[in-house]
Amino acid sequence: MPFPAAPAWLGIILSAVSVAAPSLSPLPVVTQPRIYVLDCGTLIYNRPEDYGLTREEVATTNMAVTCYLVVHPKGILLFDTGLSDRLVGRPVWENVLEGYGQVKFNTLRGQLADIGVTPDKITYLALSHSDWDHVDNANDYAGSTWLTQKPEREVMFGPQTTAADRLYYQALEHAKTVIFEGDHDVFGDGSVVLKFTPGHTKGHQSLYVKLAKTGGVVLSGDLYHYPEERTLHRMPKEEEAAGTAASRASMEEFLRKTHSELWIGHSIAFFKDALKSPAWYE
Ligand SMILES: [Zn+2]
Repeated sequence: MPFPAAPAWLGIILSAVSVAAPSLSPLPVVTQPRIYVLDCGTLIYNRPEDYGLTREEVATTNMAVTCYLVVHPKGILLFDTGLSDRLVGRPVWENVLEGYGQVKFNTLRGQLADIGVTPDKITYLALSHSDWDHVDNANDYAGSTWLTQKPEREVMFGPQTTAADRLYYQALEHAKTVIFEGDHDVFGDGSVVLKFTPGHTKGHQSLYVKLAKTGGVVLSGDLYHYPEERTLHRMPKEEEAAGTAASRASMEEFLRKTHSELWIGHSIAFFKDALKSPAWYE
């Protein structure tokens, strides 16, 4: 049966609806740096022994996966891209990698859109390192300028990695890139600095951000995983001779000198209590 002709008022309502279609909430202009803490998934894991700890010594064996957006008056930096957005809605048993079950409830892209940030608005992308739980959505942000330690980039695109390893970050190979080895002052005013902390990987880096109200914070990357590694002075066996001990010692000195807090992104305790996006730290 043909539809009756639409009454004239329907057109008025439809056009009103299209005008009122939801738009991204615009990100306000900032006068000082902010950090947004983003939920980039959870790792279901039960072998704290791999990190030099017993099950009795850790509050939980699982790990949060945290990404961060730093908004500075001169630009926007995304630090780590976490577990793949494609995991959302999938059961954990489908996605077990190296003994870690991957769970995700929110896409990174969606959380950024909620605060008015589309990938084209992100000036810089930096990865703490290239392990899969930190880089899975990196291709989505390859239009930004990639800030990378030289040794990490060499591993990412060297013979040590396979095409499968590169799948989620391969677009970075031809991204606009700033390559360095050592600390890197992102906006040139000392408020956002990538700190070279090799050991977990050859080009591992943490991120220092000086916030006006919160004070200095360092986003650890995988300098630590479980918070008990820091309190009980433990580390994975294979990292003992790889530089982690020296990087941790110099980081502790830096934290003392700058009166900064260390935020351990894999810590469930940290993530549970953190102010999460769309709220922010400043
Ligand atoms: Zn990790």
